[in-house]
Amino acid sequence: MKIAMIGTGYVGLVSGVCFSDFGHEVICVDKDPRKIEMLERGEVPIYEPGLDVLMNKNVEAGRLSFTLDLKSAIDGANAVFIAVGTPTRRGDGHADLTYVMAAAEEIARTAKQYVVIVTKSTVPVGTNAKVRDVVATANPNLDFDVASNPEFLREGAAIDDFMKPDRVVVGVETERATQVMADIYRPLYLRDFPIVTTDLESAEMIKYAANAFLATKITFINEIAALCEKVGADIKSVSKGMGMDGRIGNKFLHAGPGYGGSCFPKDTKALARIGQDHASPISIVETVIKVNEDVKRRMIEKLTDLCGGSFNGKTVAVLGVTFKPNTDDMRDAPSLTIVPALVGGGAKVRVVDPQGKREGEHLLPGATWTNDPYAAAESADLLVILTEWNEFRALDLSRIAGSMKNAVLGDLRNVYSAETAREAGFTAYDSIGRKGYP
Ligand code: NAD
Repeated sequence: MKIAMIGTGYVGLVSGVCFSDFGHEVICVDKDPRKIEMLERGEVPIYEPGLDVLMNKNVEAGRLSFTLDLKSAIDGANAVFIAVGTPTRRGDGHADLTYVMAAAEEIARTAKQYVVIVTKSTVPVGTNAKVRDVVATANPNLDFDVASNPEFLREGAAIDDFMKPDRVVVGVETERATQVMADIYRPLYLRDFPIVTTDLESAEMIKYAANAFLATKITFINEIAALCEKVGADIKSVSKGMGMDGRIGNKFLHAGPGYGGSCFPKDTKALARIGQDHASPISIVETVIKVNEDVKRRMIEKLTDLCGGSFNGKTVAVLGVTFKPNTDDMRDAPSLTIVPALVGGGAKVRVVDPQGKREGEHLLPGATWTNDPYAAAESADLLVILTEWNEFRALDLSRIAGSMKNAVLGDLRNVYSAETAREAGFTAYDSIGRKGYP
């Protein structure tokens, strides 16, 4: 199969690299010359564990290449994947489809032979039908089908997720498109994996419903954590006890500072808007969006309390700013709410993150970057754990407490415990949904 992949972001690049590893011939297109130049030099523009090795292996095998020129990529392709961004549209919460529609028109103008136009981007219900209409209008002679193929990979574990998916969802309208999609994913059939073949609208809905459900689960446990703090229960025990129930499952029950990232915030907002537009509001998701903002605000109150009521004049060391470990992605990370609140409240803020600096430096003005948690904590009044990178999970807490001006720990990922902090010499400790001190 010959595949063109439009967009070399977290989804497009990983999908393109993995498809080439299946043995397909893949050309990845991006309109950003900086990204294409890097990729042509063998460098990966994003941080995703293992991607550089797999990418270069397939480039060397002659199956994978990169270009700015859509025309050459589409020439002879059996399928063109659209994997461009669908951010929240300013002002109204809708998914911004500008990039998707622009890509569809470019394909229409360029394609010459039968091709399946596959939307991998997360798009509202009805978008694939619009893509079909846009292409048919722009190039009435083109023989084509559309397919919806939403992506479920997680940043930080993207290659494994792509190669061993829980399921592949494919929305199609014709037998011909079904066949092309089956040929593309056939290498995965060697392992027994479930594929859901359905209509376009159901495929589009599956992606939003799945993400909104996960965001709801996280938000549910975050609210239970807040109640645990009031009644003296321990969220770790509560999550464990709930998660052992097979009907509930133990994933996404880890309380924290609120969900963030490139998908949950924008996809919950988009689903809420779709519901409103169809006079079928998804009230539970609307509430989740609101509660998640409350969760982040509660984190700021927690940290204010740990600083004795004000950040003014305090030095705060923040460990981790990416929205989760093993990615450099800062989109909608809780740090984007919490760090500005610290800086705005008059604190001197030092941040450390193994991969966050490239993006974070301009997103967190007023913060100073350090390379090491020990240097960040020296003479500080508060240490905050905001992202649970492995690098922050086995710190020498006694050394840190001994070097701080006020040995106070705000553990917003429940990495440590009150007992460990006390033994290490911290005079105050607070986490999520558990008893702290003093
Ligand atoms: P991204 O912003 O990292 O990458 C998008 C890329 O598309 C950019 O490099 C941009 O330059 C390029 N682009 C935009 N318009 C183009 C055009 N006309 N021609 C060529 N290139 C173009 O986005 P992402 O995180 O990869 O997300 C892509 C889509 O996948 C979104 O809809 C997202 O919701 C969805 N998704 C993302 C994830 C994730 O973990 N990031 C997971 C599942 C689904």
